[in-house]
Amino acid sequence: MRSLPNIIITGTPGVGKTTTAAQILSLASSSSPSINLKHLSINDLVKTRECHSGYDEELQTLIVDEDKLMDEVEKEIEDGDGEGGWVIDWHSTAGFAVRWVDLVVVLRCEETNVLFDRLSARGYKDNKVQENMDAEIFGVVSEEAKEGWEEEGQVVELKSVEAEDIEENAERIMQWVKSWVKDHATDGKQG
Ligand code: ADP
Repeated sequence: MRSLPNIIITGTPGVGKTTTAAQILSLASSSSPSINLKHLSINDLVKTRECHSGYDEELQTLIVDEDKLMDEVEKEIEDGDGEGGWVIDWHSTAGFAVRWVDLVVVLRCEETNVLFDRLSARGYKDNKVQENMDAEIFGVVSEEAKEGWEEEGQVVELKSVEAEDIEENAERIMQWVKSWVKDHATDGKQG
């Protein structure tokens, strides 16, 4: 039984997942009493645990071994008796078990010129920029998340275009975390 919720922050590359996750953790540690949220960067996990089976030159990206990756994710989130509090940051929800996650936040940047600039600033090749822009326009990540979690009402889409959005989104997610904790503490007392 988790004492803190697990959250996935997802969305097309460049929408602000890592920045938002960092802001959530900062708010959590400075709240009173502090809330022990932990960042799980799947990008880092892919590299440090070698969950890849080669490199796609065309798309300038590692080819992810999803089975191996999900084994590693499960190990991480079950660690510490599965107490929860993971803020998971990844551009996809594919492979995640529904039961691992309490909230899926899909960040959206539908202002294509803004997303274009962010992706180009990373030095991505034109085809990689275009592929990600298309994915954002068609809402690929959002659709995938809804297939898993919409029925449970656990998917929220938040706009991430301007700097203020980062702050607002992080505040909103923290409010959600606090009410989750409150609800679950009450459940515990009654049960
Ligand atoms: P992701 O983790 O989704 O790939 P990042 O958090 O690394 O995205 O953000 C990519 C770049 O875009 C960073 O330079 C970040 O500062 C900027 N950025 C992301 N979201 C916003 C936003 N809502 N407003 C302004 N800049 C943003």
